[in-house]
Amino acid sequence: MGLLNNGFSPLLETPRLVPDLGIPVTSATVEIRIINTTCYQKTSTAHLLGQPIPGHETITFPSYAFLVSNRAQGVNVLFDLGMRKDWRKACPPALLPYIGDDGQGAPLQVDVERDIVDILDDDPGNIGITSSDISAVIWSHHHFDHRGDVARFQSYTKLIVGPGLLDRYMHSEIHESEIRGRDIVELDDTSFDLTIGGFPAHDAFGDGSFYLLSCPGHTVGHLCALARVTATPTSTFAFLGGDCAYHCGEFRPSPYIPLPQQVAFKSASWHFPRGPQAGPPVLKNRKILLCAGDFIKDIVHPYKSATESFYETPAEPVVSSHDEACVSTAKMEIFDAHDDVLVCISHDKSLMNHLPFYPHIMNEWHKKGCKQKLHWEFLNDFDLDRNPISPPAALHFRRQR
Ligand SMILES: [Zn+2]
Repeated sequence: MGLLNNGFSPLLETPRLVPDLGIPVTSATVEIRIINTTCYQKTSTAHLLGQPIPGHETITFPSYAFLVSNRAQGVNVLFDLGMRKDWRKACPPALLPYIGDDGQGAPLQVDVERDIVDILDDDPGNIGITSSDISAVIWSHHHFDHRGDVARFQSYTKLIVGPGLLDRYMHSEIHESEIRGRDIVELDDTSFDLTIGGFPAHDAFGDGSFYLLSCPGHTVGHLCALARVTATPTSTFAFLGGDCAYHCGEFRPSPYIPLPQQVAFKSASWHFPRGPQAGPPVLKNRKILLCAGDFIKDIVHPYKSATESFYETPAEPVVSSHDEACVSTAKMEIFDAHDDVLVCISHDKSLMNHLPFYPHIMNEWHKKGCKQKLHWEFLNDFDLDRNPISPPAALHFRRQR
């Protein structure tokens, strides 16, 4: 485990030493394909994260699912499903008045083009993995933008959920018809016989290639996952974060990776088309920007800090337990500080700028330097063109030549 200073140095403050994660050493890996489930949501940032950073008054985000393939065992599983196309059927009735897909008054606007089953069954990359090849669906949690329509999978596809999830949400939020007749595995505390990065961990394939991590707080029974994507010359990992955070500003910067003196990132704005035939999101304006870390700290950061996250962990009822969510996010922050772990939360739109997406595998992210390119890209969401107090903006914010 190396410290992640190379890509970001020099930093504004001396980073805190990163604790070891204690990941068992094995040579087994999984292939990971990140799937854009073609579900987009737009809402007021204040609804999710409290007082928005200027420029970030609205938040627009995709929803990812992960196709996890253990080739040695011939097993494919999905981590999350995104939102089903007929999303009203999965949405709790009490929330329906607040959600719309017409671009009009409802506070949360959603747009879903396709069910994940149809995406897989088209098999655009001829990879030979369709919905009938999925052994199990794992829900990071039960929210309707993650649990998809599991009834569309074959009856032999298992459903795996975290501790206490069904007890808490069955009937109130999960409809019995969605899971009727399906083999359901609700992991209990005895399933998590390892500890990785402070999370209780379950070795899902028994070979150390893919761990499910008990990460409560966002909901009861929320799961994250840690996938070993390379084993040689060293192990590298993808951390599938679910909704452990909605936005990277909830765990960056951190005491382990403070703001750097200069931040380089792509100024990329995504245009999310609407409607059934609208097609995939369009990337606009990919200029490389350089921004002074001091400017971000002193002008943009609400606490003028180089080491604290921009946003705090949301309060209840956005999360089921604020205290547990804070603990889980703090643990994820340590994974994020490791050079050999790429944290992929479900709604981080910047992943689309730098990672290969389904049908391609993302296993080579470390070799391609994706982490350094991605780490600060969420800053695009904030208004970085404001007039600083002193000295003038031109000295602080300029395009790279
Ligand atoms: Zn979500």
